[in-house]
Amino acid sequence: MIVMTLAAAAVASAAVVWYQLPVFPGEGPVAFLMRTLRDAVQEPVGSRGSLIEVLFYWVLLAVVHELAHAFALTSRTGRPGTVGIRLLFGFWPRPFADVTALVTLPRSSDRAPVLLAGPLAEFAAWLVLLVVLGSHVKALGLVFVLLGPTMLLTNLVPLVRNDGYLLLQELTGERDLIHSARRAAHRAFLAPDPQTSHAGRWWLPWYGLLELAAVPASLVLLGIGLGGLVSLPSAGAIGGLAAALSLLARRVRGIDPGAEEWPGANAA
Ligand SMILES: [Zn+2]
Repeated sequence: MIVMTLAAAAVASAAVVWYQLPVFPGEGPVAFLMRTLRDAVQEPVGSRGSLIEVLFYWVLLAVVHELAHAFALTSRTGRPGTVGIRLLFGFWPRPFADVTALVTLPRSSDRAPVLLAGPLAEFAAWLVLLVVLGSHVKALGLVFVLLGPTMLLTNLVPLVRNDGYLLLQELTGERDLIHSARRAAHRAFLAPDPQTSHAGRWWLPWYGLLELAAVPASLVLLGIGLGGLVSLPSAGAIGGLAAALSLLARRVRGIDPGAEEWPGANAA
């Protein structure tokens, strides 16, 4: 119910923003967005000043994200949440919210909206920024245009430990999804054992396989991208592939097939 309300609010705010898009006479919202995107692709990197501006918006959006988690949690626990900013590597601002009280909420239907609130609020705020900035978006370059969708995807794609992963744990009732899934993948693909059947969770080994491969696969793309910067994309691809295989091997070796399942792991 709460999730549906949140989703409806996100859709409604997106719809409001959609009809407020700064369109020129004779140009619809779709054409405006396509033109903004085309302009941004033609000039992928703006000036140094615009990069600093994008960094500022990024921090602003991250603050909205963390505040949304904190508000959603406070509205359920009745206790004030902690929000702050840490400096990563001594200079990179990283806002955070302390959501450890999440585990005190007994019902999954209370925990899931707290997880969902961050990415949804952040994406809505990015849409609002897109409208407020209007034609200035062109000067900010592709980085800003990609910022909103990238943040939403990296937060919700459940293959790395992030909001989307924690949400998938809530939806499936798995307490330690990554490790259960890696063990299931090991059982299914590396050491098939006809004695144990996990018919109810047919997707678990497949999810485990995807999760094991996702981060190594991104290293190949990173290698190609970095190689491309110095006009050596194939050398970058080979380097990325080597790093990916080494990481994958380390991950597979790290699986402990005999480990105990988390007590009540399958209790929804
Ligand atoms: Zn979050």
